[in-house]
Amino acid sequence: MRKNIVAGNWKMNNDLAQTETLITQLKGQTKTSNAEVMIAPSFTNLWHAFQSLRQDDIEVVAQNMHFAENGAYTGEVSASMLKSIGIQTVILGHSERRAYFNETDASLAKKVDAALTNDIRIIFCFGEELADRKAGNEEAVVESQIKNALFHLGAEAFKNIVLAYEPVWAIGTGETASPEQAQDMHAFIRKTLADTYGNEVADNMSILYGGSVKPANAKEIFGKPDVDGGLIGGAALKAEDFYAIVNAF
Ligand code: PEP
Repeated sequence: MRKNIVAGNWKMNNDLAQTETLITQLKGQTKTSNAEVMIAPSFTNLWHAFQSLRQDDIEVVAQNMHFAENGAYTGEVSASMLKSIGIQTVILGHSERRAYFNETDASLAKKVDAALTNDIRIIFCFGEELADRKAGNEEAVVESQIKNALFHLGAEAFKNIVLAYEPVWAIGTGETASPEQAQDMHAFIRKTLADTYGNEVADNMSILYGGSVKPANAKEIFGKPDVDGGLIGGAALKAEDFYAIVNAF
């Protein structure tokens, strides 16, 4: 049975003191849903966050990693470095990484392999731009993003992958995909998986929606049968809002 997951992507927000404050506030919240909860602080605060949340029901995950094991890649962090401080999950392919840091399907395929080799679970992000949707190409774009980065893998690997559909036009814009648009795309993604890997892989895959999810719209979006949770940006920076979303299940 697939899991419900709500993951907060803090992006480049929160220094050490702010991280401590937000974690204290998160610890003060009550979870009434069955969703797995994750937060993704910046690299500098991962270790501190991991230590602070050791005893709690919140997993600390990374926002990115490099594909190489080690070497001359100034400013980068490897899968084994994440692993060495206890991190078990990494977000890969966020649209901001694709847009501002030139991440491509090909480089993401290498990151996917490196994460899985190090036994790190992946939250793999993808989604179409507004122009793609206006042209009616959203399914073709999403299909190629998934296939190019993931479909070299065997079926077994998908146990360590969570998918996050994030239409670029809905990220940080206040514009949300309607619950029906999210459901249609999630059903298409699940069918794409089933066509190649069979129903077991498809049915067990958690597919998250990301793009301006807030307490006010989370229940309706999460109520759709193929939406198994959310990747949350802006609303993850306020403990109360984040937990209102977690508890929307
Ligand atoms: C994101 O960056 O993954 C995201 C979904 O952001 P927001 O919730 O702010 O749209």
